[in-house]
Amino acid sequence: MAISSPFPAASSSPIAARFAAVQADIAAACRAAGREPGSVALTAVTKTQPSEAIDAALATGQRVFGENRVQEAMGRWTDRRPLHADLELRLIGPLQTNKVREALALFDVIETLDREKLAQALATAGQARGVAPRVLIQVNTGAEPQKAGVSIAEAPALITRARVLELSVEGVMCIPPADEDPAPHFGLLARMAAEHGLEVLSMGMSGDYPAAIAAGATHVRVGSALFGPRDA
Ligand SMILES: *Cc1c(COP(=O)(O)O)cnc(C)c1O
Repeated sequence: MAISSPFPAASSSPIAARFAAVQADIAAACRAAGREPGSVALTAVTKTQPSEAIDAALATGQRVFGENRVQEAMGRWTDRRPLHADLELRLIGPLQTNKVREALALFDVIETLDREKLAQALATAGQARGVAPRVLIQVNTGAEPQKAGVSIAEAPALITRARVLELSVEGVMCIPPADEDPAPHFGLLARMAAEHGLEVLSMGMSGDYPAAIAAGATHVRVGSALFGPRDA
């Protein structure tokens, strides 16, 4: 594995080795799908990770990171942000409207827009900052009641509404049900993106990112495969 590592200078830290292995898997999945290697961005999910793990990830050259909670992410990234001009932070967890200003101050992309009220709050906060917030629409493809995300039926109206509010709608995101074959969910999300002319497809996690790449993922969100199991 180390021989084909895209990071030959990486140290022997376990995290560096895990990053190299996941990068190699992503490249292999791209080749298998006839896609350009490099057409898939790896979002490293750092929720709950200690400082040393984040610094080890940065040392491999990783620059795209995903976090679930605004407050927790501020603690981890506010001081690191100015040190890396090319850092990209993506919010992949639920966003409350009263956290929107803080979220836009830290995150480059909000992947979890799933309701009109949040779209409105993002638009208002974006205007105050003089930016068009970059967003993905989170779709609850499995219609799971406990899970965030707009329903498949209501997604088109939310996409339209977000565009009317002049949010920068870049794509769609989903988290398939844990106990189902994710492939049909990935396929559904890919078709929805195509129908709406959206380029970004955020789908695939540690357990299923090769299948997501086969279905067209442009961003895979990987945590435990890079950092090891999280504490419960
Ligand atoms: C935690 C999380 C991930 C990463 O999960 P792993 O299985 O550890 O790779 C991806 N996406 C979202 C939305 C998450 O909350």
